[in-house]
Amino acid sequence: MDAWSARELRQQYKRLLAAHREAGNQMKHLACHDPLTGLLNRAMFSRQLGRALARARHDGSGLAVLLIDLDRFKLINDALGHHAGDRLLQEMARRLQAVLPERTAVARMGGDEFVVLLDEPAIASRLPQLARQILQALAIEYPLEGQLLHITASIGVSTCPQDGHDEYALLKRADIAMYRAKAAGKNTCAHYSSGMDGASAVQLALESDLRRAIERNALTLYYQPKVRTQTSRITGSEVLVRWEHEELGLLRPEDFIPLAEETGLIVPLTKWILRQACRQNREWRSQGLPALQVAVNLSARQFADGNLLADIRSVLAETGMEPSLLELEITESMMMRDTRHSRRMLEGLKALGVHIALDDFGVAYSSLSHLKRFPIDIIKIDRSFIRGIPGSRADEAITEAIITLSRNLNIKVVAEGVEKKEQLQFLRSRRCDEIQGYLFSQPLDAQSFSALLQGKQQAQVMD
Ligand code: C2E
Ligand code: MG
Ligand code: MG
Repeated sequence: MDAWSARELRQQYKRLLAAHREAGNQMKHLACHDPLTGLLNRAMFSRQLGRALARARHDGSGLAVLLIDLDRFKLINDALGHHAGDRLLQEMARRLQAVLPERTAVARMGGDEFVVLLDEPAIASRLPQLARQILQALAIEYPLEGQLLHITASIGVSTCPQDGHDEYALLKRADIAMYRAKAAGKNTCAHYSSGMDGASAVQLALESDLRRAIERNALTLYYQPKVRTQTSRITGSEVLVRWEHEELGLLRPEDFIPLAEETGLIVPLTKWILRQACRQNREWRSQGLPALQVAVNLSARQFADGNLLADIRSVLAETGMEPSLLELEITESMMMRDTRHSRRMLEGLKALGVHIALDDFGVAYSSLSHLKRFPIDIIKIDRSFIRGIPGSRADEAITEAIITLSRNLNIKVVAEGVEKKEQLQFLRSRRCDEIQGYLFSQPLDAQSFSALLQGKQQAQVMD
């Protein structure tokens, strides 16, 4: 071996050693860090928080835990795939680190949730400003299907010693505060306060009551007639759910549908409603009453649920309901959450033979291109426009335009919330297909609705 190759060997050996050390460092890094964002992982964060808590106990200093959750992140993941989602998380992690004081412990807890530990002196006085900076740094506009989606963050804060002395209490309370921030409209920061526990206890109780009510058939369906504008003949009904709560009395959908959505109970709830509505419809048929349409409201979470099509198919099969008599009411904002998914979903529903109604039309995006792109059978003009008739030129013009547009697109048009004769006259003169509202009838329980159908109960005079 000559001198030259011995030197080369030594260099080679040094390179190998360096590579080995690097690999060791990488292994260590991997064990402590989240591979996607490079932030600390949960276990490492937990260790650092444990140390900081011990220090705080020892010298009486304070610390704060910030739980940060991205708003609307799921839309990106669902619409553009996990790759785009991952890139966004990396960018958010980078921005978060850039805005925090150097050496701050910041971790990804999983999904789109981050956690920050602040244990510098006098942190309490700096918190509001820091939270604002984080919110600013994490607010971005993301181009999605020709629109700009606003991605923001919600922050929940808990502090030691005020809100707890251990990791579990601090994280739990920061989590409660974070949900409060979401409920307050997102893109905001909420500090934990003891009252929040109470509120979530009430919510938990209501949630378990609702679960039981679904299991025990304790909810009631009301049927609001829809009638042909020109002839006043009943063509069908919209199903509206009510909950007779043992202690709280009669609850309307807005009191519990959001809770059902939040908890996922909306899925069994809607399946229950669909089954009841289809069964009732079949029963009326078997009593010799005419074939009637029945409309069921879907909610956003239900619409995003992968099992919706299978659920509807099984309810149709189980009840023997004719698919063309079932209408499903969705809103524009539901369609807009994930247009690609919505299209697939609507096409799947159409293939089952059911009809799709666009509820509360005119108040949300009202992009007319939806009417071209999605297979819509029915438009329901939102009652806020009908309320302004007669008198408001704008409401009259909008209502008239929606009727004309629907007719030209061969879509059936229904006016909601018709309460006055003048409104009926206006809708008749503009040839709106159907109306629904207190002028003809309030929502009725099944018995009263069938009495109305059989002519036993006096309907309000419409002419
Ligand atoms: P929606 O689908 O637009 O239902 C029509 C609402 O307008 C009903 O309120 C109905 O009682 C009310 N209404 C009908 N005619 C008139 C009228 O002439 N004047 C006025 N001022 N109001 C009228 P309700 O039953 O409180 O339902 C509110 C919303 O809750 C519904 O709006 C629907 O979005 C939702 N909802 C109702 N039932 C269900 C359900 O079974 N599932 C889901 N996911 N949502 C439901
Ligand atoms: Mg509706
Ligand atoms: Mg409506």
